[in-house]
Amino acid sequence: MISVYTTYIHPTATRNVNAVLGSTFLSEGVKVKEFEALLSEKLGIINPVALNSGTAALHLALVLAGIGEGDEVIIPAQTFVATALVVQQQKAKVVFADVNYKTGNIDIASLRSKITGRTKAVIPVHWGGMPCDLDEIQAVADEHGLIVIEDAAHAPGATYKGRFIGSISDYTCFSFQAIKHITTGDGGAVACKDDAKAVEAFTRRWFGIDRAASRPSYLGERQYDISMQGFKYHLNDYGAALGIANISDITERLVQLRTIAHYYRESLVDVPGIELWDAPEDRESAWWLFGMHVEKRDEFIRALADRGVVASVVHQRIDRNSLFGGIDQSLVNQARFDETQVHIPLHAGIATSDAEYIIQSIKKGW
Ligand SMILES: *Cc1c(COP(=O)(O)O)cnc(C)c1O
Repeated sequence: MISVYTTYIHPTATRNVNAVLGSTFLSEGVKVKEFEALLSEKLGIINPVALNSGTAALHLALVLAGIGEGDEVIIPAQTFVATALVVQQQKAKVVFADVNYKTGNIDIASLRSKITGRTKAVIPVHWGGMPCDLDEIQAVADEHGLIVIEDAAHAPGATYKGRFIGSISDYTCFSFQAIKHITTGDGGAVACKDDAKAVEAFTRRWFGIDRAASRPSYLGERQYDISMQGFKYHLNDYGAALGIANISDITERLVQLRTIAHYYRESLVDVPGIELWDAPEDRESAWWLFGMHVEKRDEFIRALADRGVVASVVHQRIDRNSLFGGIDQSLVNQARFDETQVHIPLHAGIATSDAEYIIQSIKKGW
């Protein structure tokens, strides 16, 4: 079966990780710093703070943004549950916005319509790696004094009007979970546009202790005074060693993903029963997923499975979970989107010949 995800491990990863194990320094140290430097160098991410998950990145961003009890945070329902869980963790209220039917990203008119006096932040999710309408989102945010926290779990290396994702909004959150573009096993990063917020993030990721400034005393413990709520959220050096190997060829891998994605688009554009999503010229997806709408989706998924190809909805709207209140009837485009959305394999394990086979498998019909 051609799977819809892969875990990419660069050939140098074993050596890198073994070197860390051999050193017996496993916790957060020089490898984490080196990985952070590469996130900036290779992917244009401003002030990346490496963490132990993408969920931790989203949560820490909410803490840095000062989101708390009574606040409302607008998110799309087309995402993974982590985006909503962290909002509730801060005792804030999750408010769902509708989706753009042709991208899977947050719809701007719906975002506007969901703003109340209590709205403090919006978390746009770059579904599958395709950047959201960030200028329009920032304009709404400026108008209403909202903080923008991007969930860029799918979008490292994506660009919007020539700028890298991770250099645009107040906060941008990345995931280095096993099946994401760059894995550290589990891991994540929050990019903070404001330098002072980045310093705060470094302190909060390690119990609220300023690691760089706290020196051991003759008594045998570091000297510190915790003055803000901290967390056990730092990345460790063996995860970073894996990440350093995996980020080494990310630029080439992104080009390969884009090539396959454009090949799919050219080949599938005229296939009856398929409606491709928008891919605006002013932005380039990181192509973590290749999504589209298909008629008779059940038959499509079964027909492809019979031909050895996995197709998947990946995630269906998360508002349907009882913790988040159940299906939000106001999301009319989301309801349509959910009936026909599907994703075909696109990842580092897909060669041009695989893509060709997948296209032929689809063209046989369903
Ligand atoms: C993977 C993912 C997350 C969570 O990242 P973890 O590293 O698994 O905590 C958050 N949001 C989206 C959209 C994701 O796909």
